[in-house]
Amino acid sequence: MDCIFCRIIAGELPSNKVYEDEKILAFRDIAPISPVHVIVVPKIHMDSLNDIGGDSAGYACHALKKLPEIAAIEGTTDGYRVVSNIGENGGQSVRHLHFHIIGGKKLGVNFA
Ligand code: 5GP
Ligand code: ZN
Repeated sequence: MDCIFCRIIAGELPSNKVYEDEKILAFRDIAPISPVHVIVVPKIHMDSLNDIGGDSAGYACHALKKLPEIAAIEGTTDGYRVVSNIGENGGQSVRHLHFHIIGGKKLGVNFA
């Protein structure tokens, strides 16, 4: 298996786990860009939000529902940002759908 996040989910690679259930795993980003930076991944491989459909939609939707709870575990109290990069121009470096939870400080507004 050559997908880093599938290997983390399988326990073949270590991660700093924040939350886990039957459908998703959340772990701290290895290169955080803010005091809170968590990666939330569905436990089923799909490349990105471009590929949700059928069963995978349930996993992705479950991840979205759990975002506030996961953010709260990391101590965010006044909001946070959710990002899901898609493809080359979207800046996606790991081709397994994931949501970034970014917070722990007042964030800027520059998305470009
Ligand atoms: P992307 O650029 O695809 O939206 O986000 C991928 C994120 O995964 C990056 O923020 C990167 O730091 C993080 N990342 C890549 N490899 C690993 C890893 O092996 N462990 C952890 N915890 N994060 C990783
Ligand atoms: Zn994968």
